[in-house]
Amino acid sequence: MEKNQEFTVTIEDMNEDGAGVGKLDGYIWFIKDTVIGDVVRAKAMKMKKSYGFARLMEVLEPSAGRVEPPCPVSRQCGGCQLQAMSYEEQLRFKENKVLNNLMRIGKFKRDEIKMLPIMGMENPWRYRNKAQFPFGRNKDGEIIAGFYAGRTHDIIGNDDCLLGVEENQEILGIIKGFMKENGLEPYDENAHKGLVRHVLIRKGFKTGELMVCLVVNGRTLGGRLEDGLRDSRADSLADNSADRLAGCLVEKLCQVKGMTSISYSVNMEKTNVIMGKEVVNLYGPGYITDYIGDVQYQISPLSFYQVNPVQTEKLYGTALEYADLSGNETVWDLYCGIGTISLFLAQKAKKVYGVEIIPQAIEDARRNAALNGMDNVEFFVGKAEEVLPEQYEKNQIHADVIVVDPPRKGCDTVCLDTILKMRPEKVVYVSCDSATLARDLRYLADGGYVVGKVRGCDMFPGTVHTECIVELCRK
Ligand code: SAH
Repeated sequence: MEKNQEFTVTIEDMNEDGAGVGKLDGYIWFIKDTVIGDVVRAKAMKMKKSYGFARLMEVLEPSAGRVEPPCPVSRQCGGCQLQAMSYEEQLRFKENKVLNNLMRIGKFKRDEIKMLPIMGMENPWRYRNKAQFPFGRNKDGEIIAGFYAGRTHDIIGNDDCLLGVEENQEILGIIKGFMKENGLEPYDENAHKGLVRHVLIRKGFKTGELMVCLVVNGRTLGGRLEDGLRDSRADSLADNSADRLAGCLVEKLCQVKGMTSISYSVNMEKTNVIMGKEVVNLYGPGYITDYIGDVQYQISPLSFYQVNPVQTEKLYGTALEYADLSGNETVWDLYCGIGTISLFLAQKAKKVYGVEIIPQAIEDARRNAALNGMDNVEFFVGKAEEVLPEQYEKNQIHADVIVVDPPRKGCDTVCLDTILKMRPEKVVYVSCDSATLARDLRYLADGGYVVGKVRGCDMFPGTVHTECIVELCRK
């Protein structure tokens, strides 16, 4: 095969990035925008020794699971890798991925795995409570907001991402109009010039409260004040008009139903990090409130919070079910983030200890515990693989149940070894990567645990990400 040569292939699988996988004479092709079951004509683009990348030219025979993507920019945007797959097909794909990894990497036999049906969404659209839109200009020089095209920093204009809330469109319209009227420039990454970088929009699904936080390359909404990089327009506006501008923006945004918190974040760095470290409050209490189940959370612009609250409730509910608490248990929640699972568990346990590496997350966790009047939770800042062994050796701590929810790389072996030494009755493993999950489950199984129920939970419909919960019982 030569570069640019075209060929026909059947798509048999999908890789981690959501590209279709097809085989031709033992050679593997990755082809974006295809669906398992498609027969396609593709063009060879880049070839390595045993695999290559090809571009989809034509779908010759569409898969039974193929649908017309409802989003007009789904192919350029790349945020939803699975939009051309029907939702039932997406769920099957995710369930199979977990099962295959448990068998292939974890070496579990099919009949050893008690797989429950994956928990999907009734309506797999508009599920995200948070969106971050970058601003820029299109070819015609108009201000646009949207998303970066896959693997680039080119902005695809899109005010109404179908994963986000309907209010996004109205809010973006207001901000773009405000920028135009007042001559506020969108930020230009290459020149490191212009003011408005991003907007963060969040909504409390249970409360209806809305938050807007504008990320600006300046100390005030008037533009940059202190360095030589002033835009001429922003320069003349800068000094005294900053307050007037802020007032004007607040007034406009408050017309949106539910508007509760308006702020801006100062980010003058040359960086890919979206939010600045500093937040200046313009209107409201500085946070919005939301609930997962009966637990209340205050969410500020910089707080982490699960983006799909409907599925989060199902995920945590299942974790709680697998923990099987009666009220007398001591529970450890490792990789606890802002303590969402810890607080969920604390409703049914005697005592919950949470461990998390990021200090600000633990501050949020403590505040949320107090907000809910929960005094049976305690949080530690540090690495799970350091805090747990230290507490075990120094204080002979005990656990009836240990819940882990690690990042994609899974648990550290020191952490797993300590869990095995502590011998809790149950371990509940919440995972966002079934490959590392399979590896860790094998380790725990060899150390004396039996893998019980396994259940997927679709936290991110339209994307390849797969979340899953596993119950482990001591032999
Ligand atoms: N359980 C939380 C968040 C899970 S995400 C929730 O449901 O909201 C994984 C968390 O693990 C992140 O907050 C990350 O900061 C934290 N983390 C990463 N490595 C860690 C480590 N070695 N020890 C403890 N926490 C860690």
